[in-house]
Amino acid sequence: MHHSRLLRRLLRKGRCQFWRRNQKAAILQLPLDILVLITDNLALHDKFLLSHTCKALRQVLLQEWDIELPQLSFEHQIGFWVGLAYTLPSRWVCLKCCKLHPIDTSDVPAAFMLIKYGAVRTVPCSLESSRGIEVEQYSVQHYHIQLALKLSRLGNVYQQYLAALMQTFTHTRTKYSLTPPLTEFYAAEPRIINRRFILREEWKISNNTNTALPLFPDQLGCSIPVCPHMRITMGGLVGSRNWKESSINVIVHWCNIMSPHEGSILLKEVTLLEDSIELAYESPGQWIFNSCLHCSTDLAVMISTDERKATIRAWHDFGIEGSPLDASWKAHVRDENRANWLYVGPYVDYTHGSIRELWSEHVSHGTGTSHAKLRSIFTKLIDGWSEV
Ligand SMILES: [Zn+2]
Ligand SMILES: [Zn+2]
Repeated sequence: MHHSRLLRRLLRKGRCQFWRRNQKAAILQLPLDILVLITDNLALHDKFLLSHTCKALRQVLLQEWDIELPQLSFEHQIGFWVGLAYTLPSRWVCLKCCKLHPIDTSDVPAAFMLIKYGAVRTVPCSLESSRGIEVEQYSVQHYHIQLALKLSRLGNVYQQYLAALMQTFTHTRTKYSLTPPLTEFYAAEPRIINRRFILREEWKISNNTNTALPLFPDQLGCSIPVCPHMRITMGGLVGSRNWKESSINVIVHWCNIMSPHEGSILLKEVTLLEDSIELAYESPGQWIFNSCLHCSTDLAVMISTDERKATIRAWHDFGIEGSPLDASWKAHVRDENRANWLYVGPYVDYTHGSIRELWSEHVSHGTGTSHAKLRSIFTKLIDGWSEV
């Protein structure tokens, strides 16, 4: 509300009198018109919080929250709740219900499937704000990230829950491996570095038998969902690449929404993981580094010198505290509303390799590993574009 209208209302209702009687706190010693001028520039959630500090300020702000809030756009309503949740340790913003939900200290990434499908569910909505690509039992949700960042910032509440949110998760599959008799190991390790939520994931596929087996067999195969844009689905390296190529060909030749040139660029972008693994096979024992073009995710791949073990690591930067509507979060989430899964979204601007370096600086403080840096595949990719 414009402050002159508010002033008129205050004067009409005699609130100036009330105001003069309550000038004890420093802020209340300001002339009323100056204070109104200041509060007019506050974000809505800040006005809400200010109006709940004392009767005098409630009278000054005089917002009718129940009426005004539903009239806002969805984005502004979410922004309001995000602003409130920032200061409330035990609340998080639900995108589906467009309101705050209370904290549930049993709800951690490693237990999300139990929370979602099991009897321990406490959230009264079927919200899922994960990345939508997870095949493991570990599923980090947007509100896990936000709660972890907030509790870490506050430092004095729900610290046990914070520790549970930040716990490393590991899982080994042997008997039920997707690629028997290979062993699949998965680990997810979250960390808060410089107030950013960074997640490192690792997949290890091992052949512990005496026979020579392909680590990424064409039949059955394993699923490696590094990010929505770098994923190996069923069918191994060759099958995954062929499937993506034929899907893009269908789009180019039948849907008429992409030129052959754009199709070939897209194919390169969505097969960076396949490229990285193939390059790693050419240089066993060496790390191959790469980065996603559409979300802030660094990648490293190594095939052991005896070619019996493949290690794939990913470092994701989920950013600072924010809204589930922020582009920085949405870039990490598979867009299920798009009919075409190959919609990759806009390019994301970040320094490739910086998330991995930030992680290793934080973890080892420069003790380092013997990673041999090969030429970035990304550089090759850029070079390749001009040849297409
Ligand atoms: Zn909800
Ligand atoms: Zn990505």
